[in-house]
Amino acid sequence: MTSRVMRDFDLLLPESVPEVLELLADHKDNCAILSGGTDLLVALKFDYAVDNVVSLALVPGLDDLSFDPDQGLSIGAKVTIADIVKSQDVKTYYPALWQAAKVFATPQLRNTATVLGNIMRASPAGDCSLALYALGGDLQLKNASGVRDVSLDDFWLSYGVTARQSDELAISLRVPPPTAGQKSAFQRMTRTTEDLSKINAAVSLTMADGVCQSARVAMGCVGPTLIRLPKVEAMLGGAEITEDLLGEVSDMVAAEITPIDDIRSSADYRRKVAGILVRRVINLALTEGNNQ
Ligand SMILES: Cc1cc2nc3c(=O)[nH]c(=O)nc-3n(C[C@H](O)[C@H](O)[C@H](O)COP(=O)(O)OP(=O)(O)OC[C@H]3O[C@@H](n4cnc5c(N)ncnc54)[C@H](O)[C@@H]3O)c2cc1C
Repeated sequence: MTSRVMRDFDLLLPESVPEVLELLADHKDNCAILSGGTDLLVALKFDYAVDNVVSLALVPGLDDLSFDPDQGLSIGAKVTIADIVKSQDVKTYYPALWQAAKVFATPQLRNTATVLGNIMRASPAGDCSLALYALGGDLQLKNASGVRDVSLDDFWLSYGVTARQSDELAISLRVPPPTAGQKSAFQRMTRTTEDLSKINAAVSLTMADGVCQSARVAMGCVGPTLIRLPKVEAMLGGAEITEDLLGEVSDMVAAEITPIDDIRSSADYRRKVAGILVRRVINLALTEGNNQ
């Protein structure tokens, strides 16, 4: 058994977004934002070294989770995974996100961990991040000079590295409104329940008269970042999704991933099950992933 000691840092407790931005501008790379802390506090016991931690605990106005059929879903910086599970709108209109939140860690973790923290961590295993990657979304990043929108498609650059600048606070994520015929789903495999994913997959399909009009297919734990599978998406787009097509899709998946061996699984196992998982998640979306 090992034990680790938390490094010393100054805990800064701003009470407004402008105060957060001022602190970020002052400390830049020598500073981290503390939201739920479920990743950050672990990292601070290992090799992540900053002298200043800016907590969002006392900052109001960041916990909005709202849905509008024309505007879509807005997820504020302090919205927790438990908030997502409790949302009937998410369950109805964004099944992939709801399913990812439902199996995420433990009740205690879900009450603390935030959706935006999951995105900012840039883990290739992030469950809610993966569901949102399939659904699409734009992050609002704010610094003292203003706000910019960054698509999730452009956000994760490499393992643990994002397009966020050190003086930026992620304020919210906007997920597009559901379209007619949109179906989505998420599935993961773990060593035990309540463990991090050893492989996960999420899809969003737009169906009309039994034909897939367009598809977003995302996988985790099979590369340094979460990835989309463009060749698989191209195979599904414009096609009727038959068992034969799903067999071809399943074979194609292995060609689009670069898994590695780690403590949760082997590259070989991941390569073998990836196609099966994608096939299952597509079937789940088609059977249970309605957005109405
Ligand atoms: C026991 C355990 C089980 C877990 N199980 C799962 C699981 O099943 N699935 C899964 O995907 N993850 C899991 N995780 C990982 C973790 O819980 C999630 O990634 C969580 O969503 C992180 O959110 P947080 O609010 O705790 O982030 P924090 O730890 O507060 O922050 C994470 C990172 O994001 C940055 N950050 C946070 N908020 C912002 C913001 N608004 N703007 C800019 N930067 C920000 C922080 O500075 C830090 O670098 C688990 C972790 C533990 C310890």
